[in-house]
Amino acid sequence: MKIILLGPPGAGKGTQAKMISSKYSIPHISTGDIFRKNISEKTPLGIKAKEYMDKGLLVPDELTIDLVNDRVKHDDCKQGFLLDGFPRTVKQAEALDLFLEENHEKLDTALLIEVPKDSILERMTGRRVCPVCGASFHVKFNPPKVEGKCDLCGNDIIQRKDDSEDTVRERLDVYEKQTQPLAEYYRSKNTLRVVDGSKDINVVFDDISNILGRD
Ligand code: ADP
Ligand code: AMP
Repeated sequence: MKIILLGPPGAGKGTQAKMISSKYSIPHISTGDIFRKNISEKTPLGIKAKEYMDKGLLVPDELTIDLVNDRVKHDDCKQGFLLDGFPRTVKQAEALDLFLEENHEKLDTALLIEVPKDSILERMTGRRVCPVCGASFHVKFNPPKVEGKCDLCGNDIIQRKDDSEDTVRERLDVYEKQTQPLAEYYRSKNTLRVVDGSKDINVVFDDISNILGRD
């Protein structure tokens, strides 16, 4: 099962990805998490990526495409994968298609999680994340069981630097210009499925499970 998750920042991609990955036993590959790990380890990739991420801009395609091509070649992707936050540009989508074609594989589903723009700001500014396992919480909509601690791994949860109001506005702008056209790209290939991400987290997951079916 090869799936990509599309949707604006704050749509709930990371939240749903953790649940999908666990139900369908496929690795959750988040380019954002990979960049953040590189930033915390101060790798050359992390140092370059940080310049863009702090401003709410996309990391250049040439850095991002190679990273994903390398990652999906790992053994754990033999039965499929779930890409969260990739592709984000038409160039990245074309690169993914080329990679899959060369490997005689194809994408099963491009899942677009739609959320009205006016609820995104509240979701993003209230988001708290685990810097260790990438789990996402919300102070109001999805609080952790123990305040300030990750439910999954127990580490301290933090607020992402790029979740400040100004950066969120920039990221939404970037999404509309560079990523939104991908909905049309996948619709024309008949792989696009759309879910209403404004419902409760578990209801969104039920809707997604109905689309993906049993595995
Ligand atoms: P994305 O990965 O698309 O940027 P996240 O999964 O991190 O989004 O979710 C953004 C924020 O919204 C998080 O704080 C998360 O807990 C919260 N959230 C996710 N899904 C829902 C939902 N269906 N209803 C309310 N809040 C949600
Ligand atoms: P995310 O964790 O998905 O919200 O991503 C956080 C940030 O990482 C984005 O705002 C971008 O700066 C960068 N990023 C993540 N994925 C990509 C991608 N596919 N292409 C370019 N930049 C990305």
